[in-house]
Amino acid sequence: MPAVTAAVAPPTPDPATVVSGGANVRPVKASPEAQLRLLELADLDAELTRLDHRRRSLPEVAQLAQMDTRAAELRDGIVMADTELGDLGREQTRAEHDVEQVRSRIDRDRARLDGGQVSAARELENLQSEVQSLLRRQADLEEIVLDAMERREAADARRAELATEQASVAEQAAGLTAKRDAALKEIGEQEAKAQAARTALAADVPADVLALYDRIRAQQGVGAAMLRRGRCEGCHLSLHTVDLNQIRAAAPDEVVRCEECRRILVRTAESGL
Ligand SMILES: [Zn+2]
Repeated sequence: MPAVTAAVAPPTPDPATVVSGGANVRPVKASPEAQLRLLELADLDAELTRLDHRRRSLPEVAQLAQMDTRAAELRDGIVMADTELGDLGREQTRAEHDVEQVRSRIDRDRARLDGGQVSAARELENLQSEVQSLLRRQADLEEIVLDAMERREAADARRAELATEQASVAEQAAGLTAKRDAALKEIGEQEAKAQAARTALAADVPADVLALYDRIRAQQGVGAAMLRRGRCEGCHLSLHTVDLNQIRAAAPDEVVRCEECRRILVRTAESGL
């Protein structure tokens, strides 16, 4: 059965809370005004929690992480394309050089044939056969050059595509960064305002009550709740008449807690007492 008990301070070794006789707990007291401050404090704490959650869940943060991943992939892709382009360039140059060598050898052979320097039938035949074989070799090498050129073209196009996407990703990331930073700035400003208001409010609450409130808040998320029409607004449970009677009997400066959720219950004109 929900019962309402007088709040007690946390078992802290603070000598201010230690009463004679060795007991280290004592009822916590605060003026009704100071207790109302706890509700304002709870509102501010809820706002601070909302702001913190908003900061952590900004969509731009997740989007930027995706952009970073894509940018790294694109960087790797461009490095690979550049390496491939370098390899193909060297391959093409080498093949072109080979073509040149074969060509000049053919030219030399033909000059010998045309110059009539070779008369022996056997030597003539050998020379002609060599020219035929060199021509085949030249055709093969030219094929290699052509193939390297085609592959270079394809790699060039791929690289250009990657570079275009890289520029687009960088532009989107810059836009997202600006949006994120603006949101963070706004959150920071609201947080600073709420924090300043909280500090000012907390100064009006007795230290032991504040410590109790903060301890409950650390455990439950919300440290204090209003008693509204006989119901705890922290756990939304209605109090029994006997508990309400106990609260009615409690001195106004006695800090009472909800037996169900252990939150500080703050009495107001709307409490239905
Ligand atoms: Zn409650």
